[in-house]
Order: sequence, then C-alpha cells, then structure tokens
Amino acid sequence: MAVPFVDLKAQYAALKPEMDRAIQGVVDRCDFILGKELSAFEEDFARFCEVEHAIGVANGTDALRLGLLAAGIGPGDEVVTAANTFIATTEAISQTGAEFRLVDVDERTYNLNPALLEQAITPKTRAVIPVHLYGQPADMDPILDVARRHDLVVMEDACQAHGARYKGRRAGSMGHLAAFSFYPAKNLGAYGDAGAVATRDAALAQALGLLRNHGQKSKYEHVMEGYCSRLDTLQAAVLRVKLPHLDGWNARRRQVAAWYGERLADLPVVRPFVLDGVEPVYHLYVIRTEPRDALREYLSTRGIGVGMHYPISLPRTEAYQGRGFRSGQFPVTERVAGEILSLPMFAEMTLAQVDEVAGAIRAFFAGRA
Ligand SMILES: *Cc1c(COP(=O)(O)O)cnc(C)c1O
Repeated sequence: MAVPFVDLKAQYAALKPEMDRAIQGVVDRCDFILGKELSAFEEDFARFCEVEHAIGVANGTDALRLGLLAAGIGPGDEVVTAANTFIATTEAISQTGAEFRLVDVDERTYNLNPALLEQAITPKTRAVIPVHLYGQPADMDPILDVARRHDLVVMEDACQAHGARYKGRRAGSMGHLAAFSFYPAKNLGAYGDAGAVATRDAALAQALGLLRNHGQKSKYEHVMEGYCSRLDTLQAAVLRVKLPHLDGWNARRRQVAAWYGERLADLPVVRPFVLDGVEPVYHLYVIRTEPRDALREYLSTRGIGVGMHYPISLPRTEAYQGRGFRSGQFPVTERVAGEILSLPMFAEMTLAQVDEVAGAIRAFFAGRA
C-alpha cells in the first residue's frame, strides 16, 4: 500500500459542501481584496492565537519581512535566528536590509539552542527570531529572558506551529510578533499562498495594516510607501472554514505521532523529543538515523512519501557561500542535515497507514541485520 507524504484531497473531501459554499460566497460578493471574509478571519485567527491582533498578508515570508519592518528593523541592524530553518526566515531578514546571524540548535529538539543565544548578540542586534520547527515551540522562556536583557524584538517564526503550546501559551502569543504561513501543506493551509502576523501590540498591528497595503490609511491616502501583500479574501474564506477544525486535526497528528512512537521504539532511529510543558502539533514527524539515505530510498521505492527538512543546512546552502561560514561552526545543524527523515504525517492518516510505514522501516532494518 502506497502512503503519501501528505493528503490534501482527503481534507477537502471532508469539508466539500461547506468549503464550496464559502468560496462561492466570495465570488458572489466579488470583494476579492480586503473583503468581509478577511476581517472575519483575522478576528478568528487572533482569538485562536490568544492575541489581540492578526493581520493577513500574502504569505509566511512576507509575514516575517513585514513584521520586522513594522518593528523598525532595517539596514545596520542584526537579527539572530536558528541555523536549522527554512531559508524564508533568513530571506526575510536580508530583505529588510538587516544582516542575519545564525545560532546552532539543540540536538534533541532541532530548535534554537538558548544556551548559545547570548554569544551571538552584538551591539547591532535588534531582534531574535526563534523558529518553532516541525511544530514544536522553541524553548521560549530562556530566549525571552535573553531578549529582555538585551532589549531585543522577539518575532516568532510560527509558520510550522499553528496551535502548538509552550507552558500553556499558544505559539505566536509569546513574542512581540509572530509570523504564520498558510501554505497549502501547513497545519492550517489555504488553497494557495497566504500568511498572517499575530501581535498583542496595537501600534505594530496598525503599522502592519499600512505596510501590507501600499501605506494606505484610506483609499489613495498614502502615509508611507508600503508593499502589495494582502491575504486574498478567497483564501481567507478557505481558512475560516478550516480554522474551527484545527485543534482537532492537531490532536489527530499527536495521535499519529504516538502510534509511530510505539512502533519505532525498538528500532535504531531517534524519535522526536518533546520538551516538558510543550504541546507540539507535528507539522512534520522527523526521525533521525545514520543510514538515512538508504532508508529514504527503501521507503520511496515502496511508494511511501518521505521528505527531508532540510537536506542542506543554511550555512552550507549555495546562496550563503561566501558569507564566511566555517565548516563545523554549527555542528548540530550540519550533522543532523545528513540524518533527518520526515515520515508521512497528516491529520487524516489512518492506523493502517502508520502500520504500513512503520512495518516498512522495520523490514528495512531487518534486511540489514
Ligand atoms: C513555510 C515556512 C515559511 C514561509 O512561508 P511561505 O508561506 O511559504 O512564505 C517560513 N518559515 C518556516 C519555518 C516555514 O516552514
């Protein structure tokens, strides 16, 4: 039995009547830009994140970029983030004119190692972006503590962590700002590109409202130059249908993770580690094993969808050659890039599908013994 890496069709099938009605409603109203469903979704999503404001933007990368710009980050500034992240995090920093500095990750969680944060801070550092990678919040208390002492803006990259909790607090509610992506395969996914910034701060929310829409206070009244980065009303309508299901879907992902955990316990793979007090949402289920490439090949040829997040670490990626990163400077990030493997993970996954994947992994190791 083939098992896909994600199955977006299963989710649409379950929501079809409601979804089709919501999409048709936008088409009937023709309020495609900054329409009714967008402001309704922004209210719903802010409530979900347990913050005061959510501002819809075009994608998660823009959520990071506009969030930093709203906080006044720009040329001459430095922003610290995790070495193990998707390139969007560092792209967003560079695109404000600031420089990024990377910090290695905790080997257990693959998230920014708080013990290494302070040494990356220089007099130019203005902000830190903890990334809640794979759906597990970064260890925020020590990060917030360092940020407070150095007066840094904290922007959470929550693009993989919609609904996760850290010591009771929602991902996206702990920093000054948080960026979310609604890329279709994310835990909350649109039918195209979309993103949002969450914040408690009314002034930042107001700045973001201007930045995403050409600096317009009202039509053709431009108080500044901004960007064209609004969340489409059609996408907001899709997201609004899905949002009430998100906590349930995330609970299902934790169930799938528990099934995997039981079935892989006696095999030579490192399973996801969860920090005390953290409720992850398993955007990805990432294992680690030394014969990663052989296992990946084995599963792929059996029709099991697997991925690597990410196979080439940022310090080694081609775009960042010539930036002076030394081999061994980020030992954990560099090493795990060769060992991590993301298994199929989606809310609609069945026990039979988990059994199929786990059985194939077991057969792979039996064949090598
Ligand atoms: C998906 C993602 C982004 C970017 O989101 P887009 O909507 O694709 O622009 C940023 N950071 C992380 C960690 C992501 O996973």
